[in-house]
Amino acid sequence: MNALNDFKIKIGLEVHAQLNTRSKLFCSCKTDFGGEPNSQTCPVCLGMPGALPVLNEKAVEFAIKLGLATHCEISPISFFARKNYFYPDLPKGYQITQYSAPLCRNGFLKVKTKSGVKKIKIERIHLEEDAGKSIHNEPFVPQGMTLLDFNRCGVPLLEIVTAPEIKNPDDAAAFVAGLQQILRYLKISDGNLEQGSLRCDANVSIQKSDSYLDDCRVEIKNVNSLRSLVSALKYQIELQKRSAATRRKMKSATVTWDEKKKITRIMRSKEMASDYRYFNDPDLLPLVIDRKWIENLRKSIPELPMEKAERLQKHYRLSENHAYFLVSSEVRAELFEYLAERTGASELSAKWMLQEFSRYENRLDQNKIDGIRSDVAELLLMIKEKRLSWSKGKEIFSQMMESEKNLKEMLFQQKNLLIADEAQIEKLAMNVIKENHDVVEKFKEGKHQLFNFFMGKVMAASNGSADPKVVSRVLKRILLGR
Ligand code: ZN
Ligand code: MN
Repeated sequence: MNALNDFKIKIGLEVHAQLNTRSKLFCSCKTDFGGEPNSQTCPVCLGMPGALPVLNEKAVEFAIKLGLATHCEISPISFFARKNYFYPDLPKGYQITQYSAPLCRNGFLKVKTKSGVKKIKIERIHLEEDAGKSIHNEPFVPQGMTLLDFNRCGVPLLEIVTAPEIKNPDDAAAFVAGLQQILRYLKISDGNLEQGSLRCDANVSIQKSDSYLDDCRVEIKNVNSLRSLVSALKYQIELQKRSAATRRKMKSATVTWDEKKKITRIMRSKEMASDYRYFNDPDLLPLVIDRKWIENLRKSIPELPMEKAERLQKHYRLSENHAYFLVSSEVRAELFEYLAERTGASELSAKWMLQEFSRYENRLDQNKIDGIRSDVAELLLMIKEKRLSWSKGKEIFSQMMESEKNLKEMLFQQKNLLIADEAQIEKLAMNVIKENHDVVEKFKEGKHQLFNFFMGKVMAASNGSADPKVVSRVLKRILLGR
């Protein structure tokens, strides 16, 4: 058994991120998702003879931004090449991509993994165009046929390639998650794995005492969730370990992950770069980047998730878990900061974001959040001041979300359900007073700010369902004799 665990794992990732520019990389066709098939095409992206590509400046800007955010060197000059291969969804017969000279290189991404923050090296980030889509598994496609949609042909992609130094499947998933967050913070890609705007291929090999086993490297293609990425890698690692143990030779291959059967399947033996006959595209000039442009773009990079997590921990004294939960989406982090500032209760706000807000956030766009945030701050303030219990607050918030009523309406409605019976509240109040003799003494000595302490205790004793006005009246009568 020991021999099986005596391997070093090497994982390298190639992630493709679809950029959300309005037009394609080399023509002015729209990039909108879901348009009628083949309606967003032109001679350039269909690869008609004689059509000339013109580079989209916005796509270059987005690429530089990601390069800067991941500490890459930005090449002052880079080139576009043709990667030649035949596939039905590639009408030109080649893909325009950057090969020997990518736009960005030698960077890194700091990510939060299960075993702490790790720095993962990025070898290169380059610009390239997407291919079209083959459609076979839809009900409207006749058996044995394939339909082609070229709307995606020429949509700009960034390919991000890590060094093959990732040591386990969980770290690989952490890298993809971290990259996804940065793409979203920079607003350059939706970063959606399930919908394919982020696509991840993973190369994995195992190594024993510094020599590759048969030089075997398996590339897992297009896993469409972080969970599948981890499962596919674990499966491959086990497979490779077992075949090494039995000295069976494994071939380098490209495989896909079968989500239903939880196995990888071989698609083809692995291509080598020489199979693609790369050469610089004679229709495109070298890409020359002005230093000033880079410096201007540098100024536009927002505070990124890892820095934000550190700042939130320090400034609001949050736990690491709370901080990383909050920064995983910019919307979350922003709302949290608003609530923490408005209520002065950062821990309460963080806990509320984690336990309550997270249940509804998928339904909330920025407009809706802007519409409810002051109500939510008000609600948290009431909880902080013990005018409302957590569970009552939670209930009101859920009702607010379900009924789209605002806090005032909710409280008004709530009031009719509150305990307003003076005798019942007086009973609770008397109990509180009995149990807190020392505080009563202090109150009677003149520390009248302690009134809120009693309010809170009685409200809590009623599980938040007592009418605060009646509680206040009853307490004043008992404590102050008026
Ligand atoms: Zn076009
Ligand atoms: Mn690629």
